[in-house]
Amino acid sequence: MANNVAHRIRDDFPILGKPMNGHRLAFLDSAASAQKPQVVIDAERECYESYYANIHRGVYSLSQQSTQAYEAVRGVVKRFINAPDEREIVFVRGATEAINLVAQSFVRPKLGPGDEVLITGMEHHANIVPWQMVTEATGAKLVVVPVNDDGTLDVAAYRERLNERTRFVSFVHVSNTLGTVNPAEEMIALAKAKSIPVLLDGAQSAPHMPVDIQALGADFYCFSGHKTYGPSGVGVLWGRLELLEAMPPYQGGGDMIRTVSFEKTEYAEPPQRFEAGTPNIAGVIGMGAGLEYLEGVGMAAVAAHEQTLLSYATEQLKALPGLKIIGTAPQKTGVISFVMEDAHPHDIGTILDMDGVAVRTGHHCTQPLMARFGVPATARASFGVYTVGDDIDALVSGLKRVRKMFA
Ligand code: PMP
Repeated sequence: MANNVAHRIRDDFPILGKPMNGHRLAFLDSAASAQKPQVVIDAERECYESYYANIHRGVYSLSQQSTQAYEAVRGVVKRFINAPDEREIVFVRGATEAINLVAQSFVRPKLGPGDEVLITGMEHHANIVPWQMVTEATGAKLVVVPVNDDGTLDVAAYRERLNERTRFVSFVHVSNTLGTVNPAEEMIALAKAKSIPVLLDGAQSAPHMPVDIQALGADFYCFSGHKTYGPSGVGVLWGRLELLEAMPPYQGGGDMIRTVSFEKTEYAEPPQRFEAGTPNIAGVIGMGAGLEYLEGVGMAAVAAHEQTLLSYATEQLKALPGLKIIGTAPQKTGVISFVMEDAHPHDIGTILDMDGVAVRTGHHCTQPLMARFGVPATARASFGVYTVGDDIDALVSGLKRVRKMFA
């Protein structure tokens, strides 16, 4: 994407035009949550203003219109991740709920003492804690693939740890803390060769690169709408139809049943089986608008743009004395975690904020990964479609100020 295109894209995001602490806002925390383009804000507002009603329930026009707009988003998601079938798209609250759903409904019933679930050392807490919950409850064991010094995965160790006791593999496509892009296709193929089902956590891949879940070969994939430029509180679980059809519901309630009596309830088919209760109707519609916005920019262009920025920012940051980048894998998305001599990440974040530069500081919901690198926290700059060179320049000059204050 040419730099002028990125500058034009910024105009689509109203918040980016607002000054922050008297400065131009350099928003460098898209890995936590992306800002929203006007089309997303409009889609959600229009739903409430023009055609909102509860879905799947009413014969009246408004309800039908709402239902149609909500259901149409399954088609958008199907296209966005190249899913074979709309019935495989389950709307959830986000990646966290998607992983919990798979852990409880698909994996837990299969686990017993001695069985293993395999994850990696670079998982977000959302892909650790649900597996601890199901392994602890069933006497199974959680096995972890170690991370190399450069922030890549030890794929040889992954191979070794895939064994006849492994019942499920769940790993992150792209690390939210390091930006590492894992060799997902290869890792999934290794598991599938042993008939072990795989969930790929796509929270950080869906917003930043073209994703073809059929080419990847996983059994489940998930992402969060708020990171793909849509609203918070909505997300997607994709699962192979035959697996979803064989799974019990995650939650019970309205909208997920065929018939209910006190003697016996028959569940609806997927995806309705997994969407109990009134969903975030306008949120799902907004998420669809966010995905269509990304399609309009083109995911290949998004990825190329973020790579250019990553190279530029990495060079600039490497040149700063006393700054160390954590995570230097050859395949990365636009995420740079770093620490500085003498300055605590929280101080870095606070000083940058005074310059209008928003970065995330802390453990990024990856405490075991922080422990692996021997740091309690990092500062993290992360990019999105609207990030431009000026944002990196503001970061660099802010960091020079930090250095002066602490050196
Ligand atoms: N996995 C990864 C890699 C993430 O980055 C995140 C969000 N930071 C999650 C899972 C959880 O997503 P959410 O909080 O939207 O459910």
